[in-house]
Amino acid sequence: MEDSILKEATKEQMVADINAALEGAFEQIHALHGAGSTLANKVEIMEVLYALNDRFLDIVRPCLDGVALQCRKGCAHCCEFRVEALPVEALRIAAHLGRQGDEPLAEWTRSLEAQASYARGRSEKDYQRKCTFMDQEGACRIYEVRPFKCRVYHSLDEESCRVHRKNYKIGLLGQLESMVVQSVVELFGQAGLSMVPGELSQSVLKALKDPGAEAVWFARGNPFR
Ligand code: SF4
Repeated sequence: MEDSILKEATKEQMVADINAALEGAFEQIHALHGAGSTLANKVEIMEVLYALNDRFLDIVRPCLDGVALQCRKGCAHCCEFRVEALPVEALRIAAHLGRQGDEPLAEWTRSLEAQASYARGRSEKDYQRKCTFMDQEGACRIYEVRPFKCRVYHSLDEESCRVHRKNYKIGLLGQLESMVVQSVVELFGQAGLSMVPGELSQSVLKALKDPGAEAVWFARGNPFR
């Protein structure tokens, strides 16, 4: 999608809304930043940035002129690609799964082991397997904690996703989303925290199995390499 397909009449309001969203998010991040090196604090910062990203989508979507994003619950062609997660995202997803109780956790661990084993040594090109977190209906079972990689995937054509595995970079929206991801990387990178992404199932599995993973990350290492 090019910016030319944004409705002219809505552009002024859209820019005002984007600026307001940015201002609000940066105020929150400023308050959180430096409030301690705990996973909870870093996750809170991530949540502000995820919310900012979602807000951009809400702002831009009604401004599209004559085209519509095709993404919807149950359409999951993009969930068969190799997905990566940042270290903080893997730790957050593992913490989310850990809160579900022993039995579900054992089940997650088993399916992550199978996925991680499939993923080993595979590049984007030769990876074609449903994500562990996708249910039978094609919905994401960790939707609220899914990583940025999944949040910034948009499509204007379902067939292109199915056949060509194409990831659209959507003009202004793509730029805004890249800016958000870049902010995360820089923000945590300044604190020396690794922001090198790893394959989703391998990283989450490692975070689940290695109780020292969080400490390694805070000691400026990358437990997911
Ligand atoms: S985490 Fe969720 S959204 Fe991302 S690839 Fe897996 S099922 Fe799809």
